[in-house]
Amino acid sequence: MERTISFLSRILDTLAPRSCVMCGKRLAVSEEVICGHCNLFLPRTGYASSAYDNDLARLFWGRIPIERAASFFFYKPHSDTSRLIYRLKYGGHAEIGEQLGQMIAEEFATEGFFEGITTLLPVPLTTQRQRQRGYNQSVEIARGIRSVTGLPLLERALERVTFYGSQTKKDRWQRNENVEKAFRLVDAGAVSHQHILLIDDIITSGATLTAAAKEVLQGDNVKVSVLSLGFAKNM
Ligand SMILES: [Zn+2]
Repeated sequence: MERTISFLSRILDTLAPRSCVMCGKRLAVSEEVICGHCNLFLPRTGYASSAYDNDLARLFWGRIPIERAASFFFYKPHSDTSRLIYRLKYGGHAEIGEQLGQMIAEEFATEGFFEGITTLLPVPLTTQRQRQRGYNQSVEIARGIRSVTGLPLLERALERVTFYGSQTKKDRWQRNENVEKAFRLVDAGAVSHQHILLIDDIITSGATLTAAAKEVLQGDNVKVSVLSLGFAKNM
């Protein structure tokens, strides 16, 4: 489909040139967030077309009942994908999240990924972390998805509990213990009888999302699906 480039967007491009979030090159007026080259070589998972059975969905089997699961791309440390995530989380670029959310939603919608889903629920940060960063990257991604799908976004039904002490100093068992108790469902009514799409930036072991999903499943007759920007497979 030919995109119409407005006179206004040409002027804006001259005044404030935008750059690719992966390679940093200046974007053409017709490009959004990621340049054509990076977009072409983005390591897409393709999971949206096999959302009931893929390596991400299998992470949750036997742990929580899950409907669909898909990530946009495979995440690798010290790569273009990790630079993108770094800019989103630590670069103060909240808008990247919303733009990527739109991009994901447009691609996943063509696979029917959102059919039956009723509510978007971004994985919350602790109040302290959110204050430090100024935004929650998962909420930004969810906003982008909302703008394409029109699905409502639930921001205060699930809370992330604050732990004291450094995570890195604790051993593996204690860390898992911390993750398991990391969330608290504060509004069961808001999730009851809903098909909730949990949204996160990166999924590694799936422990965080499992803990979040367990809390959400405390509501009556809840279905849960999972979406993330990156999937750090086998890390
Ligand atoms: Zn690029």
